[in-house]
Amino acid sequence: MELETIKYMKVDGEEVAFYPNDTYLTALQRAGFDIPTLCYNPELTPSGSCRLCSIEVEGARNLVSSCNMKPRENDVVHTNSEKVRESIEVLLELIIASHPLKCIVCDKQGNCDLERLAYRYLTSEKIAKYGGAQPKRPENKINDFFMLDYSMCIRCGKCVQVVDEIQHCDVLSMSERGYNTFPSVGFDQTFEEAGCVACGNCVSVCPVDALKPISVIKAGKEIDLKRVQTTCVYCGVGCQFEFVVDPKKNRIVYVDSIGEGNEDVNGLALCVKGRYGWDFIHHKDRLNYPLIRENGELRRASWDEAMDTIERNLKKVLVEHGPEAFSFLSSAKCTNEENYLMQKFSRSAIGTNNIDHCARLCHASTVTGLVRTFGSGAMTNSISDLTHDADVIFIIGSNTTEAHPVIGQKIKRAKLEGRSTLIVADPRNIELAKIADFHLQQRPGTDIAIINAMLKVIIDEGLVAFNFIEERTEGFEELVEKLKDISIEDMCKIAGVEECDLRKAAQVYASANRAAIVYSMGITQHSTGTYNVASLANLAMVTGNVGKPGTGVNPLRGQNNVQGACDLGGLPDVYPGYQKVSDPKTIEFFKEKWNNPNLSQVPGLTVVEMMHSAHLGVIKAMYIMGENPALSDPNVNKVREALESLDFLVVQDLFLSETAKYADVVLPAASFAEKNGTFTNTERRVQKVNAALKLEGERKADWMILADLLRRFGIPAKYKDPSDILREINEVTPIYRGITPERLEEESLSWPCRSVDDPGTRILHTEKFTLGKGRIIPIDFQDAAELPDDEYPYILTTGRNLYHFHTGEMTHRSKGLHNRRPFELTEINPVDAEKHGISEGDMIRLTSRRGSLVTIAKITEKIKPKVIFMTFHHREAAANLLTNDVLDPYAKIPELKVAAIRIEKVEVEEDRPLPIASD
Ligand code: SF4
Repeated sequence: MELETIKYMKVDGEEVAFYPNDTYLTALQRAGFDIPTLCYNPELTPSGSCRLCSIEVEGARNLVSSCNMKPRENDVVHTNSEKVRESIEVLLELIIASHPLKCIVCDKQGNCDLERLAYRYLTSEKIAKYGGAQPKRPENKINDFFMLDYSMCIRCGKCVQVVDEIQHCDVLSMSERGYNTFPSVGFDQTFEEAGCVACGNCVSVCPVDALKPISVIKAGKEIDLKRVQTTCVYCGVGCQFEFVVDPKKNRIVYVDSIGEGNEDVNGLALCVKGRYGWDFIHHKDRLNYPLIRENGELRRASWDEAMDTIERNLKKVLVEHGPEAFSFLSSAKCTNEENYLMQKFSRSAIGTNNIDHCARLCHASTVTGLVRTFGSGAMTNSISDLTHDADVIFIIGSNTTEAHPVIGQKIKRAKLEGRSTLIVADPRNIELAKIADFHLQQRPGTDIAIINAMLKVIIDEGLVAFNFIEERTEGFEELVEKLKDISIEDMCKIAGVEECDLRKAAQVYASANRAAIVYSMGITQHSTGTYNVASLANLAMVTGNVGKPGTGVNPLRGQNNVQGACDLGGLPDVYPGYQKVSDPKTIEFFKEKWNNPNLSQVPGLTVVEMMHSAHLGVIKAMYIMGENPALSDPNVNKVREALESLDFLVVQDLFLSETAKYADVVLPAASFAEKNGTFTNTERRVQKVNAALKLEGERKADWMILADLLRRFGIPAKYKDPSDILREINEVTPIYRGITPERLEEESLSWPCRSVDDPGTRILHTEKFTLGKGRIIPIDFQDAAELPDDEYPYILTTGRNLYHFHTGEMTHRSKGLHNRRPFELTEINPVDAEKHGISEGDMIRLTSRRGSLVTIAKITEKIKPKVIFMTFHHREAAANLLTNDVLDPYAKIPELKVAAIRIEKVEVEEDRPLPIASD
């Protein structure tokens, strides 16, 4: 802020500075004044409805509500005058006049703003005299997650504001007038009928006990609770929140927003999974002690016995078959420190680069595509940057409001508040498509056709950024040459989109000052994934939309720490910080740092290749940390056979997952709520994970298990806690060098961050690309590997829904989430349903060349004819029985988004495994 923009007022005799954007309240709060408020929240438009923040400004006729009025230079202000105190007292008396006086038994006791203010400003006599009336109120509303208790409501309107301004849905509004004004849900509907997605953001701002989590009602009062800030364990947004914990019982009571200071990621907003999806931590299915297989059955074992068994068997395989007979699956759910240790064990203790993790199944093609074009395979811009600064947002292959809900809401907000034009390309009519300016509903697997057609429009119409192309890129002429031969009309026909919509979308994207591309697995999970990503990079470079705010190519990473697991070397071709295995300098560097002369320079196998090798009997031993390939990999029948055939399999996890059932040793791991460390979110931001609970049973954090294992193989691993591991990471990982444990106590940092003085990097490629010049690569459209034919006439495409995550191990064990979607509902267009005599809710069989399953039909026009959509969250209808394990040749990512299938109605329900029980 320029010094000359600072002005001053006099408050209670003190000089107080303010900036042009300040209200009285923001300036006063910054200066340390404790101004009472009930309706104010810094992320909401100040409404001034409670008037408690009123102050006396000399010269003003009446008291001034400080939250929504701006100060003037040299104002003389009183915050504690008799007039101010009298006003506050009267206002509080009016509020408590219709508020039950049951603080002593109220669930909110200890955390109620009204209680705090009443005892601060009113005498006990006044409270008793004025409080406690209970006028007739509407009937309470309740769902699995929270309750709206009208008897406690003080009508501040904050919940309605959150719904309007943050979540942008119509679930709550103020109804009636005067004394009868209350927040109401739809036309007296239930929350669910009104379209509530149970984000609970309204609950987080309620100052009293009107909107409250069900878990709080069950646990009782909010006293003697502990608050621990941490990072969400679900998607890659990396939302921050506080666990509110009962330390005596070692139980989470609820999750609360942290609000201020966190606006760049999520502010007060969370989605239903982050706020309510934590019951799995206390679920009875949690593994409590190690298990060893004996006579075909898993039996309880001590830690010593389990670790001795692992050590003995791994050493036996090493002696008999050598290091290339091993493979390791690291984990996008585990911390950076744990992923670092896992790859260190694989490389340094065993001597193989056969280490990978589920990034291979979601964003491997992001890495290969963006490294080839830009030189760095990560999100180019930041979350706040793209939702505040972009004039146009082009979303392709990302159902953002369900898979990355908080980013989805920010994009929705940018569109509905008129800041951004929205273009959506998606095979389904997803939530964002419904509000988009353009929706290109392409056939799955035709993204390059769309992007090439857009590029052709842009070049033909002279909408290219010549200066940017000239100064910062190479390969443009080859692209022009390549596109000469393509017809926009043909490309639109291939993709099944309207040509005029595509032309307009291309014009709008190219003409914007700042246009951002956002994509996810709809782009990456294809046999052409690398080319799909590179095509998007072409689009951004040709229009000059790289290296400045509100632009870029922005892959939304799927899991909480998939970015970090990649950054820290959980990949077969790179050491931590993307230092290439094949580069002799990397090997020399790590030989010295790890004091180990025997490091392999041969890039290892990827996830699907590991399973194929195990199937062929080449891989003999596998170590899997927190991954579930028996459900998450393509063609799971083959994966299960591969796991079955191993000589030795170790799984460390929270539950006895589908994969753990094949293990020889199963180790009980800690959840994210029970350990410390760091996660790196989709925008390359490293954030702390803090233990809120003590470890129970015999569980151990993954880093503890791995450190023990390293020591057993003669590798020094004297880490007293994860910050020691992070210090080692700082030493060997140039892009993380400045992200030290000490700095993370104060702030989160985005890599590259190359020294302790480096503030981190919000936007990549600002001056030049990591490669130097950006590489524009001409790309031909190529069909998916398996297209529909007479035998398998439909395309199956897969994805996620809001209430579940990945293979459902955690979300099916969270009661509210499970209840919202207990089983799979497979989407089928009415035209196709009619052809097969299928009605809503009928059982249907889906069959591909690789397997078959029975599921439930949901008839919807959200999906086009000839395309079927299902999620992969449900083990009773495991979509990956059907998916194709054909790989992108560069990224080795399987084609999870396109498989040819046939469908038939099932008359009698056949033997189906039951869904995981929620409790
Ligand atoms: Fe967690 Fe993602 Fe939801 Fe945020 S948006 S609360 S990170 S699941």
